[in-house]
Order: sequence, then structure tokens, then C-alpha cells
Amino acid sequence: MTRVRVEQRIPLSKPFHAAGELEQLERVLAGDHVHGDGAFTASASERLRDLTGAPHVLLTTSGTHALEMMTRLIGVGPGDEVILPTFTFPSAANAVVLAGATPVFVDSDPVTGNLDPQHVADAIGPRTRAISIMHYGGVPVDVPAFQQLTAEHGLHLLEDNAHGLGLAGDGVRLGTVGAMAAQSFHDTKNVHCGEGGALLISDETVLLRAEIMREKGTDRAQFLRGQVDKYSWADLGSSYLPSELNAAVLDAQLREFDVIQGHRHRIWDRYAAELAEWAHDRGATLMDPPGGVHAAHLFFLLLPDAGVQQEFLRHLQAHGVGAAFHYVPLHSSAAGRRYGRVVTEPQHAVRFAERLVRLPLWPAMTDDEVDRVITAVRAFGPVTPAAPAAPAALAATASTGQDSIWA
Ligand SMILES: *Cc1c(COP(=O)(O)O)cnc(C)c1O
Repeated sequence: MTRVRVEQRIPLSKPFHAAGELEQLERVLAGDHVHGDGAFTASASERLRDLTGAPHVLLTTSGTHALEMMTRLIGVGPGDEVILPTFTFPSAANAVVLAGATPVFVDSDPVTGNLDPQHVADAIGPRTRAISIMHYGGVPVDVPAFQQLTAEHGLHLLEDNAHGLGLAGDGVRLGTVGAMAAQSFHDTKNVHCGEGGALLISDETVLLRAEIMREKGTDRAQFLRGQVDKYSWADLGSSYLPSELNAAVLDAQLREFDVIQGHRHRIWDRYAAELAEWAHDRGATLMDPPGGVHAAHLFFLLLPDAGVQQEFLRHLQAHGVGAAFHYVPLHSSAAGRRYGRVVTEPQHAVRFAERLVRLPLWPAMTDDEVDRVITAVRAFGPVTPAAPAAPAALAATASTGQDSIWA
């Protein structure tokens, strides 16, 4: 009797479990301070300041909420426009629309998928108030170009650093590029606490208002520091602070940041090295960060076209590999069309999105699992045509030395 070993499907992402996480959670639950801004919030915030170089850190309930806070804090409203990449997560655009302003969706660099400063320059108009950048996959945008553009035009520079936590290179530290930055600690991110985030503040002048906004519009933070003798409603705000339970997990994870990054980079490097020849042969393009600088948040490759992307995704699915495409460009989505606008058609972003596939990447992946992904990718060869091709067509294909699907 033969037995077929059924192998477990390899997911795209799996949350990291830090040593000390459970013990810290138990300590919170056994104590009297479970709500926000306790000892673990202080400890996790300090670790984030050390890691990013941001002078001030406020933990938030999500990256989305940090984005909402920063959009509110720069005071944009009806009649204002904020420029952002069309190839990004919806939260950055929601934040702009919730503040009453209009998102203007701009095209990507064809290699990195990041916001293209040339296209941004063309989109700046009299209503533009801010530029919102996002480092896709933890590959830094062209930081000096955006700093120059915002300085020249008197605009705010906002940073969605959900993918680039702790990255320093080429003279920039991500998270400190603009006045404020948002981090996400959703469980798909390099460091997580289930759901959570942080607002990183480099501009001192917004700190006090940010604290008030985060604490339901009250000056409770100043009260706790003994700076005011009672706290009251001071300004508009909401409840943006996470409980100590989230902070306890986040703190334990941040302690292991180097371990997490070590694992992620090891897997990333294997994909880059061991798929290079396959990619060359198959006309695919592997993720190739300028200067090799990236935060190992994800590994993507670009197929020749949308049809091959779909074929490749089905192939990996059949091999038990949880690969996935990524963002649907916002300008082409239902809400993007309703609430935002474009200046020119973001054609590079559309091409990028329809060719992109992400491979599984998470710290606890075993060498065997990485092997399986690599083997499955390499097994993606010519796709059998639905109807048998005529002999003449086959001969023509063979003479070019190319698989027809890749032509
Ligand atoms: C995850 C993510 C967000 C949202 O963060 P949440 O913590 O899930 O709210 C925003 N932007 C980008 C680029 C992200 O990857």
C-alpha cells in the first residue's frame, strides 16, 4: 500500500510568537492596571524611540488610527488635497477623506512600486497640503526627493511606515522622515500585538495636541505628569490608546526585533539567490531594492503580465503555497473613484499590481518550508494551452526558444 504524504499548506504569513509574551500578559491580568498608558506602554514606547530614533512615540490602537491622527493633526479639511500613492493600503486614503479632504492618487515607480516623486511634482496644485509616502515592502521611497518637494512647496510630509519598522540606511531612518509617521502592529507586520499601532512624532509642536487627541480630547496625559491639577475636555479627540494587554505583547516582541529581522532576512536572501536563475529563464523580475536596502517585510516578484500572474497564483495554490497578489490600486477601486481623483492615469501602478505576487515570509518558516516554496516556484514552467496547438505553431514557439505564455 502506498501512502501519499499530505503536506501542510504554507501560509503567506504567520504571526510571530515572542518569548515572554505570555508571562507579560499574565502580569498585566494579575495587576490593577489593564487600561492604557501603564508600565508596558512606557517600556514599548521607549523601545520604539530607540529603534526608530523618533523623539516621541504614542502607542495607538492601530496603524489606521495613527494615520487618522496625523491627518487631523496637520489640520487638512474640505477643499484641501493630499497626494498619496495609488498603490497602497486604503487606510491612508480613508484618513484623508474622513478629515473632509480629497486624496489625489499618484503613480508608482515601475521597479519598487513606491510613489514616484516625478509624478508627485506634476500633481502638486494650489490645494495640495501634504504628501503621504509609504515604503512598499520596507523599501525606502526616494526620501531626499520628497523632503525637497515638501520644503519647496511648503507642504507637510506624512509617512506610513507600516512596512519599514526600524530600517536605517543611506543616511535615513524610516519613521523620522517627515513630521509624523504611522507604524502598524497588525499580526501580519514584522512586529505585532494582534492589532495595534504607533504615532511617531518628530515635530515637537504637535505633541501636546496629539496626546489630547489620543485621550478622548482630554489633557489626561498632562494630568498624569502632574502638569495640571485636574483633567478635562480640551479639544477634539477619540480613544486611540491601546490597553496594557496589547502593550505587554508588543514590548515582548520589540525585545526580539533583531531575532525577527534575522529570520526574515535569511528567508528573503534565500528567495533572492535561489530564484534568480528561474526568474531570468522565465522572464520574471524578482524584488530588487535599490542598494539592497529593505526591511524584509515581504518578498515579491513580477510576472510578465496579468494572465501569467493568475496562472502562477493557481500553480502555487495547487502546490500548497499561500502566495498572493497585493493592493488593488486605489484610484480604480469603488471608494477611490467616489472620493479621490487622479491627475494622470497611474499606469505603472496598474501594471505593477497586475503582475505582482508575494511569496510566504514569516520568521518561524523552516528551511524545509522555504525549500518547498522554492521548488514550487521553479516548477512553474510553460502553461499547457487549453486546446492543442497546431504543429506549425509549436514549431514556431520552439524556434524562438521561448515558452509561448511568456512571450
Ligand atoms: C497594515 C497597514 C496599514 C494599516 O495598519 P492597521 O494597524 O492594520 O490599521 C496601513 N498602511 C499599510 C501600508 C499597511 O501595511
